Amino acid sequence: MKLIIASNNAHKLTEMKAILAPFFDDVQSMREAGIEHETVEDGTTFMENAVKKARELAELSGCCAIADDSGLCVDALDGAPGIYSARFSGVHGDDKANNRLLLEKLEGVEDRGAHYTCAIALVWPDGKMLTAEDYLYGEIAHDERGTNGFGYDPLFILPERGLRTAEISAEEKNRISHRGKALRRLVEKLEAEQQ
Ligand code: IMP
Repeated sequence: MKLIIASNNAHKLTEMKAILAPFFDDVQSMREAGIEHETVEDGTTFMENAVKKARELAELSGCCAIADDSGLCVDALDGAPGIYSARFSGVHGDDKANNRLLLEKLEGVEDRGAHYTCAIALVWPDGKMLTAEDYLYGEIAHDERGTNGFGYDPLFILPERGLRTAEISAEEKNRISHRGKALRRLVEKLEAEQQ
């Protein structure tokens, strides 16, 4: 069975391909599979969006499909930006503007607690599905630091490391991140199925 990954993000593709290759005959990105499709992400949770993306892709391709949805949830903002993380400032994927807006909203706020969430759904063409979700807890800084990672990483402090997620290597981030942990949880479920 072929698996198609519902993403064209190079980082995600490399990581997902490496981890999932042993379970499938072939693992491809949407681009490699020649599929152009944009899911309307109108779910109310990360998991609803991940499931919708994976289901649509599995139906469209007749193959297995995997999709993830992730974002930053800030305690003092009642979980915002949450599922709107990529377009917090209004423009999709404008990391600089998103970070600026987050700092503005937290001006004078003492509670800096936050977490990243990642939800992943793996769907078979017959509708069978496996899901996993995981988190990375930290705090929001008062300024940006570091050049690794993406999105809110220059603002996201790992308290036990005293570093931002933008200051650690990609390997370390994969080990501790919401996405890495959710993916490994999903793989554990896949392995359990095969036993
Ligand atoms: P998506 O799941 O790729 O759509 O990511 C949604 C948005 O959440 C990104 O555009 C970032 O703003 C934010 N985000 C998700 N994961 C991370 C992360 O690991 N670091 C920084 N920002 C993240």
